[in-house]
Amino acid sequence: MRLSGQVAVVTGAASGMGKAIAELYAAEGAKVVVSDLRIEAAQAVVDGIEAKGGTALAVAANVAKEEDVQQLIDATVEKFGTIDILVNNAGIMDNFVPAGDLTDELWDRVFAVNTTGPMRTTRKVLPLFLEKQAGVIVNIASAGGLHGSRAGAAYTASKHAVVGFTKNVGFQYAKQGIRCNAIAPGGVATNIAASLTAPNPFGAERAMAGMSINPRTGEPEEIAKVALFLASSESSFVNGTVIAADAGWTAY
Ligand code: NAD
Repeated sequence: MRLSGQVAVVTGAASGMGKAIAELYAAEGAKVVVSDLRIEAAQAVVDGIEAKGGTALAVAANVAKEEDVQQLIDATVEKFGTIDILVNNAGIMDNFVPAGDLTDELWDRVFAVNTTGPMRTTRKVLPLFLEKQAGVIVNIASAGGLHGSRAGAAYTASKHAVVGFTKNVGFQYAKQGIRCNAIAPGGVATNIAASLTAPNPFGAERAMAGMSINPRTGEPEEIAKVALFLASSESSFVNGTVIAADAGWTAY
């Protein structure tokens, strides 16, 4: 097992990629904190993990709120003693709004979750990581964080910021045994369209599936395998970088 005895916190883990990552980490021996806004759905993921003999804990937390993030860290340390792996996965879409139609409210809401959220969790785990001179951070960015995207301006900018943050953290703490990398998924079949607060212009439940230049839609488990590589010692020399997992979309 590749994550035996490791303690992993996964945000936004009640569905989609976060759920797949939590399940795979648990299957590889990690004790997993399944955190999400939606505690009942998070508890269902925990129940599934425990039914397979794994160890997990559900914690309700809104990554956009400082006090929630503190409670998430505190609850994890209280239950499992430490944190070894942080996966910043929680994220929302932006209604595909172009820059000219942006409101401050939409911009701030998207950034609060997608960008400030990972900053808050990272800021809170770093003292733990520095104390033991070890720790791994995996940020779920987006293909939209690498190119102009077919999402709106707020989502695209928020994920570009995650890529920049990843590189900075990876560089700054490399000598302290801490690694920070990101995954840039292409369109993946999840429930993220549920975070749209206006009609999806692609008219499909799967928000990203309508993009004609997307070679194909991925499955959450395909991203989880990349997240496993980045969390495990197999990627010990990989730091401050972004792995595109998009069937070649960003090769354009
Ligand atoms: P999803 O909607 O299935 O999962 C996201 C989870 O995050 C949900 O369970 C939701 O409740 C939770 N969440 C939302 N806001 C939160 C908050 N403030 N605090 C805590 N939890 C919150 O979507 P997904 O596609 O699995 O998304 C996971 C990540 O992947 C996101 O960061 C998303 O931007 C990114 N991403 C998705 C795609 C795609 O095509 N689905 C592509 C590239 C990147």
